[in-house]
Amino acid sequence: MKINKELEDIINEQINHEFQSFYNYLAIAAWFETTPYAGFASWMKMQGQEEQQHAMKFFDYLVDRGGEVKLLPLSQPKVQFESCLDAFRTSLEQEQRVTKLIHKIYEAADTHKDYETRHFLSWFLQEQTEEEKTVEDFIIKLELVKDDPSGLLQLDAEAGSRPEPAEE
Ligand code: MG
Repeated sequence: MKINKELEDIINEQINHEFQSFYNYLAIAAWFETTPYAGFASWMKMQGQEEQQHAMKFFDYLVDRGGEVKLLPLSQPKVQFESCLDAFRTSLEQEQRVTKLIHKIYEAADTHKDYETRHFLSWFLQEQTEEEKTVEDFIIKLELVKDDPSGLLQLDAEAGSRPEPAEE
């Protein structure tokens, strides 16, 4: 069934938010590349790749539902961070923002009794829970090690061992 216009608009906005997330993670990765923490840089790049996949999931879904994809402009991401912890806190804020946006789409799908969109979104709800948890775990550990170089390097190695995201 062809998607309702309000949902089409909100999904187009979400495509933009997911690409913006990709861009924001890329900026965090670029900042990490200026530090000794290559593992964190690689982790942030992969996180960005996942956001790009999310954007494309929304893109394909909109097309499948007879909607028209409209790509909106991206804004310049934050490029400077105080510390590894600051960069991960920025990441958590972003994930929390995206979770709220997914909730908004879910509410609109409810209003329009669009069961397909509700079903489609359930994957994203689960994904957001996982993303927030992963970032929170890094934050807890980064708060623990503070400025201790050996602790930071150990976390950096952990981040660097993250496998490449699989194509969904
Ligand atoms: Mg995402």
